[in-house]
Amino acid sequence: MVEIINTGNELLNGARLNTHQQWLTARFARHGFEVTRQTAIADNGNAIEEAVRESVRRARVTITTGGLGPTSDDMTREKIAGLLGRELIHDPGIESHLEEFFAKRNKVPSPRTMVQAKVPEGAIVLMNHHGTAPGLVIDIPATEDTPETMLIMLPGPPRELYPMMTEQVIPLLEERFPGRNQMRERFVRTTGLGESAVEEAIGGHLEPLKKESGLGVAFCLHPGHVDVRLTSNRADADAVLDSAVALVRSSLDAYIFSDAEEEIEEVVIRKASESSITLAVAESCTGGLLSNRLTDVPGASEVYLCGLTTYSNEAKQTFLRVSSNTLETKGAVSRETAMEMAKGLMEATGADIAVTTTGIAGPGGGSEEKPVGTVFIGYATSSRSGALKMLNPYDRETFKRVTSQQALGLMLKLLIGKDPD
Ligand code: ATP
Ligand code: MG
Repeated sequence: MVEIINTGNELLNGARLNTHQQWLTARFARHGFEVTRQTAIADNGNAIEEAVRESVRRARVTITTGGLGPTSDDMTREKIAGLLGRELIHDPGIESHLEEFFAKRNKVPSPRTMVQAKVPEGAIVLMNHHGTAPGLVIDIPATEDTPETMLIMLPGPPRELYPMMTEQVIPLLEERFPGRNQMRERFVRTTGLGESAVEEAIGGHLEPLKKESGLGVAFCLHPGHVDVRLTSNRADADAVLDSAVALVRSSLDAYIFSDAEEEIEEVVIRKASESSITLAVAESCTGGLLSNRLTDVPGASEVYLCGLTTYSNEAKQTFLRVSSNTLETKGAVSRETAMEMAKGLMEATGADIAVTTTGIAGPGGGSEEKPVGTVFIGYATSSRSGALKMLNPYDRETFKRVTSQQALGLMLKLLIGKDPD
């Protein structure tokens, strides 16, 4: 019933992946709307007209993204108004929004900016709280040979599109199309086990719910974590999913870091903040990724004290007081080095929890004893210290991602008082 039209030359020449398709179709599926077609077209007046003309004949709802901005390649608004034979009318409400938007940023709007205040006759305006161009909704009444349909134009930039979609479009569609068979989903996120181990651990327990309550179960593998996706489209979906989550928890508790679609770094920062526990990291093989992920989380400054990238032996000695003897006899990639890094880091920063990484990312540098992918993740707290050995034989990017995930997993265990090994 819903068709999506994404506009933009960049989607057709490989300059940008059409991530709106996936993001939008996931939102629709979640709210029980069936997407029947998706199209990507160039920023070209004819292409827009043609795609919209065809789609409104078929679909109950047509969504377009992009081309609402002020530049000359933005022509969705004009083309659609022309196609529907509606005049563009100046909207004073949008004009004041645009003026305020620029004033707040100490900028003067260019004359072209005001094209965004033009609205096809009869359209509903969706205010853009994160940018300039508003979204527009046009109800097109049925004609002799076309059914009634709704045309929704949304801005292209993701940080404008996403909130407009969740805060305004979905509620509007839910109001217009009540009583749909909604699918609800829940993700239980695990780290530390492979996909099949996760399935094995929970598979049998969920069988009765699958058979009797139509529970859907899927496993989604990501670098360093596995999501268990639980779905139900029954009227009592919430109860079915609550029981399913409880069953998954009962068999996999030690590996679960969230059942609320959070990233592990968000959970780490939240838990650390709740108990006022401070964190520091010293990274070799993850090259700063661990720090980067922790500082992606709003509020990290309350608990994250310091991150060092100590790549060379000298840096490990100078900043973390790793002994030259350890480096010579055990090597930079060793349990002992990872542990000394953590102890040195704790002393230097005063953090309650210090976590470190050292490993062989490859493709060179491996040996029989320490093959490419060997990693030690060190930790130190006031009461304990140690290091975990991992084997992550992947390309460098995946290696860093997986290793940072494991380090965050270890951090989380220390935060909630679980045994790190
Ligand atoms: P603007 O005011 O920025 O011109 P707009 O509504 O005209 O906004 P576009 O110009 O089409 O939107 O897109 C703005 C930016 O949003 C693009 O440069 C691109 O980075 C991103 N974008 C647009 N469409 C998509 C898409 N389908 N998938 C991923 N990113 C997209
Ligand atoms: Mg544009």
